[in-house]
Amino acid sequence: MGGVTPAPRRCPARDHDEEAGSPVPETHACRIHHAGAAAYGREVRISLTWLGHSTVVLDLDGVRLITDPLLSAHNGPLRRRTDLPHPERWRGAETVLISHLHHDHAELASLRRLPGVPVLTGSGNVAWLRRHGIAGAVGLDDGPADQPWHRVRDGVEVRLTRADHHHRPMPHRPNDAHGHLVRTPAVTVWAAGDTSLYDEMAAIPDLLGRPLDLAIVPISGWGPRLSGGHMDGAQAAEAVALTGARHALAVHWGTLHVPFMSERPQGWMDRPHQEFTKALARVAPDCALLDLRPGESASLPS
Ligand SMILES: [Zn+2]
Repeated sequence: MGGVTPAPRRCPARDHDEEAGSPVPETHACRIHHAGAAAYGREVRISLTWLGHSTVVLDLDGVRLITDPLLSAHNGPLRRRTDLPHPERWRGAETVLISHLHHDHAELASLRRLPGVPVLTGSGNVAWLRRHGIAGAVGLDDGPADQPWHRVRDGVEVRLTRADHHHRPMPHRPNDAHGHLVRTPAVTVWAAGDTSLYDEMAAIPDLLGRPLDLAIVPISGWGPRLSGGHMDGAQAAEAVALTGARHALAVHWGTLHVPFMSERPQGWMDRPHQEFTKALARVAPDCALLDLRPGESASLPS
């Protein structure tokens, strides 16, 4: 690397100056970031926290993004099995990725807790979001590999990708459903949104122009039965295998349930992840599973 000046290091929380060697504050993102760096002995490029359901806080190269933020104790009639995420877990998010407008992915009360933050979503969702006070809604397109990417900051870019999730149209909301691809100079992420399995997932590295570092895939739903437009654990493992992802995180499980039904039938909230874990080892043995429960965090090296 002679002659190449490394880019200045930035802590994901960006509230202390690493270059000046100032003390590390006890904020959540900093703790994850620095613990990861110590564990791997090199710079961490992805720190993430799964806040439950489809909400993931991603700290990528100094930029904090959040997917489908569900930051309330409950979601309409649905109850949260796990603790409500503390605001410190998601504070400072500077870009929101909304996959679609189903209530468990686009909760207005949660979006209003991120005032002024750009909300990147399918263009068919933008007018509705703005009408409901989400002024930062920005429409993106899902097109061929050479379509322009949306620049977030400092080389961090986002584009949409296909999601097959149109089984439950809503009379009162549009539902322009997509996944998101994120790439930085160092890492690539696919947040699949809600989707069923489709063969063209194999083209995701082509859309990225690089191999995929992290696949965030949905398994299960908020009831024991899986409705159309979703993947079970085995299908989600197949999706990860198609993309060749180096790491995988399963979401959309273990968080929401209708009242009094978290344990009926017994174990339904945890079974999809057990199934995903087994299937991933079988169909994508080189992919590292991020074995997280809601509220837990991980760091990945570059
Ligand atoms: Zn969903």
